[in-house]
Amino acid sequence: MSWNADGCNVRGAAFTKKSEPYLMVEDRPPGPILKPPVFHVDDTTPEVVQSVLLERGWDKFDKGEQNVEDWNLYWRTSSFRMTEHINVKPWQRLNHHPGTTQLTRQDHLARHLKHMKRMYGTPLYEFIPLTFIMPNDYNKFVAEYFREKHVLGAKHSYWICKPAELSHRRGIIIFSDIKGLLFDDTYIVQKYICNPLLVGRYKCDLRIYVCVTGFKPLTIYIYQEGLVRFATEKFDLSNLQNNYAHLTNSSINKSGVSYEKIKEVIGHGCKWTLSRFFSYLRSWDVDDLLLWQKITQVVILTVLAIAPLVPFAANCFELFGFDILIDDNLKPWLLEVNFSPALSIDCSADISVKRKLIHDTIELIYLQGLRNERTGCRDGAKGSHSVSLTKLDVGRFNKVCSALPCESLLQFTSRTFKDESAVKKAIKICPENKHASQPREMTSRKKDLLLSTREAPKTKPKLKGRRSPHKKIIPFMSLIQSRADKTSISPCVPLDNGKVPGLQAGNFVLIFPFNEATFGASRNGLNVRRIIQKLQKLKNKQHSHMLEMETKR
Ligand code: ADP
Repeated sequence: MSWNADGCNVRGAAFTKKSEPYLMVEDRPPGPILKPPVFHVDDTTPEVVQSVLLERGWDKFDKGEQNVEDWNLYWRTSSFRMTEHINVKPWQRLNHHPGTTQLTRQDHLARHLKHMKRMYGTPLYEFIPLTFIMPNDYNKFVAEYFREKHVLGAKHSYWICKPAELSHRRGIIIFSDIKGLLFDDTYIVQKYICNPLLVGRYKCDLRIYVCVTGFKPLTIYIYQEGLVRFATEKFDLSNLQNNYAHLTNSSINKSGVSYEKIKEVIGHGCKWTLSRFFSYLRSWDVDDLLLWQKITQVVILTVLAIAPLVPFAANCFELFGFDILIDDNLKPWLLEVNFSPALSIDCSADISVKRKLIHDTIELIYLQGLRNERTGCRDGAKGSHSVSLTKLDVGRFNKVCSALPCESLLQFTSRTFKDESAVKKAIKICPENKHASQPREMTSRKKDLLLSTREAPKTKPKLKGRRSPHKKIIPFMSLIQSRADKTSISPCVPLDNGKVPGLQAGNFVLIFPFNEATFGASRNGLNVRRIIQKLQKLKNKQHSHMLEMETKR
């Protein structure tokens, strides 16, 4: 047993060589060495989470050896009970926020997005395919089905039916004929997007990681790296029964006979990293930056749909997996939001994305939580706890802060930002988007791109100074500043008493709040209407910018 500077019992912090890498939080006087942070897991905690935390110098919680409250982070796959949230201590973090199944159950998600559509108009919320919740919406669905059939005449209309809760293929049916369908449980029936962007001739969707570090006030980060999941057989609307051609879940495709084969353009396996996908798009002159911007808007609008409804809970965060399908007009469609997105490591793309994702999530929590942790230490002085950061975590934390384009935002807590140059620099980082989306070009080349048997061009693609989304895609805030709303952000003025979230942690970048107005509208209650107005304004500007670029061309 050992004692920290406050005389608190810090079990397990033996003064051995092992304790050398551990530092105390900065507002403590130098003195005896503290214990490393402790993570708590259960049988469902992904292996990669444990191994990353161990690699960072954390200790694993040991029930037998340690006091029940002697842990700093509890990471598990299932949600926590409300009592666990209520009893969380200032030095502790939970990896789930209460109430988030409102997003992650497909029927709830559909209901909330429908409500937002009704409240704020269809154009903003047109990213979810037309959806019916069965069995309640059965009559509405049948009416729509026959209406469409009438309009399309001899052409088929395509629908997908999915269980409302975690399916992973169970019970997913794609159909164009309503005959023989029975809905004995809660299902959703949705318009099947039958013009997906194909790579080679394979359908894909994007797994975008999003971390909400708080709902009150709402704070959303997007991860700039992610996964692209491919179907392993060629897309073919004449055979709707072939799951390997229509579903992109890796859990399905890795058991297919074509998984190991070298497939046209996509190669072996069924996953790419997001950065590989974006660089592929750039090689076809697609405006990946604009696409990314649209994706971030989908994320914000989706989270906004439930944010006012989730209960307040301190010291927790939620890592979501957004499944987004891009169609051949480069429009992102939201398919699903995953609770505890899969963190198993199946292939090299998983290795390069998921390990760093966990590292960066830990950094993000520190970035958000340092102030709280200090509070925790003070509490610890009274009780029995203290919190320390490993050298690795302290080092990375400092690095993250200094790498921030708008580092000063973080320091609103203590001082007014005097030097505007850093802000200007942040604005400049975002290149003037020389070519907005090329829908026309895409349309004319679309068939080549989507249906071609050709491989991606071997000649050096014309990048025109474009940036790779991995690491280089600019925080949404800067994008907005540079493209649309240069005057609306004035980070030289403290926005409120020190609660400005950090802009970046590893590959996570802040996407909400994205300017002073949305920052204000998310404090002291969430003013959704005002935020929607800002997003709408942004979308309009984006649209006129695109038109402008089109006419210039
Ligand atoms: P889960 O991942 O829980 O099995 P999803 O809703 O993600 O369920 O659907 C599984 C797969 O089905 C997706 O990855 C996607 O490839 C395909 N899919 C789902 N909904 C649609 C849709 N509306 N249009 C086209 N494809 C879809």
